[in-house]
Amino acid sequence: MEEEQVIRMDLCSSGKEKPQSDQLAFGRTFTDHMFLMDYTDEKGWHDPRVVPYEPLTVDPSAMVFHYGQSVFEGMKAYLTAEGDVQLFRPQRNFKRMNHSNDRLCIPPIDEAFALKAVKQLVALEKDWIPEAEGTSLYIRPFIISTEPFLGVAPSSHYQFIIILSPVGAYYKEGINPIKIAVENDYVRTVAGGTGEAKTGGNYAASLKAQEMAEEGIAQVLWLDGVERKYIEEVGSMNVFFKINGKVVTPALNGSILEGVTRNSVIQLLKHWNVPIEERKISMDEVYQAHKEGTLEEAFGAGTAAVISPIGELVSHHEHLEINSGQTGATAKRLYDTLTGIQYGKIQDPFDWVE
Ligand code: PMP
Repeated sequence: MEEEQVIRMDLCSSGKEKPQSDQLAFGRTFTDHMFLMDYTDEKGWHDPRVVPYEPLTVDPSAMVFHYGQSVFEGMKAYLTAEGDVQLFRPQRNFKRMNHSNDRLCIPPIDEAFALKAVKQLVALEKDWIPEAEGTSLYIRPFIISTEPFLGVAPSSHYQFIIILSPVGAYYKEGINPIKIAVENDYVRTVAGGTGEAKTGGNYAASLKAQEMAEEGIAQVLWLDGVERKYIEEVGSMNVFFKINGKVVTPALNGSILEGVTRNSVIQLLKHWNVPIEERKISMDEVYQAHKEGTLEEAFGAGTAAVISPIGELVSHHEHLEINSGQTGATAKRLYDTLTGIQYGKIQDPFDWVE
C-alpha cells in the first residue's frame, strides 16, 4: 500500500556547512534533511515525508522513553570514483528491520518502500557523501514507539525515521588489528531474548562490560548467557576464527545478530572454496587451537569496519596473541574484496550493490 504513497518534500532553504573529510567523527554530524513516516493503528504507515533535520516533538510519556520499544538499522552509501552512489545490500537491512519489528511487536514496514525512501533521501543529500578514501555516508533508519501512555503494552503509534551522517574512514592508516577482551561476567542476551533483533536495549545492556574493560580494548567478545562457554559475537561485529585452514563462525542461535557483513563473508569464502563452518565454537576450542599453533586468524565483521582483524584476545588477564598481532591473509582478502565492491573498484559478482 505504502508503495503508491508519494513522499512529500519539504526542503530547507539553506544548507548547513559540511565538515572536512579528514575531520569526520562517527555519528556526530547530520545532513540537512531526514525522512519521517507515521503509524497509527487506524491509518497504518502514512504521511511519508522528507523534512529539514530538526529535533522531534515527542510527548514525555511516549512509550519509547519508558519501555524501550524501538528498533534501528545501520548501513552506508558509498561514492565511487565515477561519482555514482552505491548502497551495499540494503534490502537485507530492511528485512532485518522487519525481523526486529516482529520481536518488538512493532508493525512491519514495506521493505521496498523503505528502500525507495532511503534512495530518495540519499540522492537529495548526495553532496554530503564525503569523497576521501574510506569515507561514506552512514544511514540510520529507526522506529520509535510514540503513543503517550505509561502502560506496558505495544504502542499504537510509531515514527519511522531515517537520518544520515557523513563518516570518516574507519582505518586511517590501513586495516589494523585490534585487541578484544573476552567478557566472562556480563552477558549481552540469551537465546529467546532480543539478541537477534537490532534494538536499543541490547546496546544499553552492553555498555557496562565495555566500560569495565581495560585500556586499549576495542570491544568485548560475548559468550553465551547460559553456559558462558560458547562464543557469540563482538560488540558490534560478528566474529570469525581461522583454525587449521578452516574458517569457523558461531551459528545463528537466536541471541546473535545476523550481520549483513557476516552473510557476505560466508558467501565470499564459499565462492573462493575456503572451508567455512557455522557451528558452536567454545572459548576452550580457541585456547586449545592457540596452544597447538592452529589458530591462524581471528577477525570481526560489521558495517562500521567491514573486517577487523583481532591481534590479541584477553581473558582473565591471559593474553592470546593471534597471527603475531598481524592482519591475516584471509581477513585482508575479505576486506579488500568487500570494500572494493562497496566503492565500485572491483566488479560485483553477487549483485550486492545498488
Ligand atoms: N552484531 C551486532 C551486535 C551489531 O551491532 C552489528 C552491527 N550492525 C553486527 C553484529 C554486524 O552487522 P552488520 O554486518 O549488518 O553491520
